[in-house]
Amino acid sequence: MDADVIVVGAGPAGSATALRLARRGYRVTIIDRARFPRVKPCGEYLNPGAVAALKRLGVAEEIVAAGTALSGMFVAGSDGTTVWAAFPAGFGLLVPRARLDHLLLLQAARAGADVIEACRVAAAFPGARPAVAVRHAGRTVRLTARLVIGADGLRSVVARRAGPLMPVANGCYTIGAYFERLNVTGPRGDLHLGPGWYAGAALYGHGIGNVVAAAPRAFFQRVGGDPERAFAAACAGLPALARIVRGARRLTPFVSVGPLGYARRRATDDGILLVGDAAGTIDPMTGQGIALALRGAELAAEVADAALRCGDASARALRGYERARAQTFGDVWRASRILQWIGRRPRLATHLLRRLALKPRLATWLLGALSEP
Ligand SMILES: Cc1cc2nc3c(=O)[nH]c(=O)nc-3n(C[C@H](O)[C@H](O)[C@H](O)COP(=O)(O)OP(=O)(O)OC[C@H]3O[C@@H](n4cnc5c(N)ncnc54)[C@H](O)[C@@H]3O)c2cc1C
Repeated sequence: MDADVIVVGAGPAGSATALRLARRGYRVTIIDRARFPRVKPCGEYLNPGAVAALKRLGVAEEIVAAGTALSGMFVAGSDGTTVWAAFPAGFGLLVPRARLDHLLLLQAARAGADVIEACRVAAAFPGARPAVAVRHAGRTVRLTARLVIGADGLRSVVARRAGPLMPVANGCYTIGAYFERLNVTGPRGDLHLGPGWYAGAALYGHGIGNVVAAAPRAFFQRVGGDPERAFAAACAGLPALARIVRGARRLTPFVSVGPLGYARRRATDDGILLVGDAAGTIDPMTGQGIALALRGAELAAEVADAALRCGDASARALRGYERARAQTFGDVWRASRILQWIGRRPRLATHLLRRLALKPRLATWLLGALSEP
């Protein structure tokens, strides 16, 4: 046996799960295909629920110091309506994913997890002695453990063994990059809603920020395959964002991902648990993915610990994990689908935004509801 637990993927879900299990004294190996720090397409917004989860993990201080704290969110509509909504409690954070994910992985290593970077897991094998196959020095090597945790994100290799992914309905495609000379002064977290598409902006201050636009496939097909043109077309329909990006200079290449949206998987198999995006995703519009990954890591670590202690990591013994996920995330999944539905109806979205502009307390309540997994 090469480890008690092999965690595949060192994003927030994988590193937080590895950290929790290493602290409980298990021999944990965490494997990622990337070398850290690595780039991850993201809006880089952590809601107060994510910050609270980092606090429970005992790593918030270092990560907060690496980011920019937010007391609320700025939301703008395509008709020029703007809303600034304060968080009802706690604070949010903007932090570059390269930094966040690296800091979490270093914490897992500090807690005793063995870290293997630049190593792609080619396959996972469920069973009483679960295993993964990795490519190393031109050879395929099989590593075994008492439990394999799939935290390898959206296109999870481990998840392919646990069951098919629910197809993403009305999924969006995203395109984003870092910019300088943005026309905005202070740090701010922005959501810009447009006629059928939207954009998020992590504005770090001093004109530096990460801007990500999300739109249906038909939008990108209409404007052609050129990322520069697609991004410009998305911003042109978002008046407040168009002002911010006018004259800005792009610092990094555009990165695209998709389709993204609500999709779930069975999260257990014999000797296998899935956590984070590997187990399911929602539309990134509401900026909840990192909070769900960190909260999911708490559930996964509890269930893994109980299974390892009683020496039974069969799918039957892990069944409680599915129930815990449904109980914890059910409302979030439902709310995300409702908001996605509204987001695809520009007139309704504009109407909602105008109401929120008149009722800041309602906006604060909504932001609070979207911050708690
Ligand atoms: C464009 C975009 C914008 C978003 N904006 C936000 C936002 O502002 N706020 C928010 O909270 N959420 C946002 N999300 C969602 C958020 O990024 C995810 O929910 C979150 O990253 C999930 O964490 P994870 O650890 O499950 O997966 P990931 O962060 O994707 O990590 C998975 C890891 O697994 C590794 N891996 C994958 N395959 C293999 C393999 N075969 N072998 C070894 N390693 C492998 C990858 O290299 C990666 O490091 C956004 C998502 C997208 C795509």
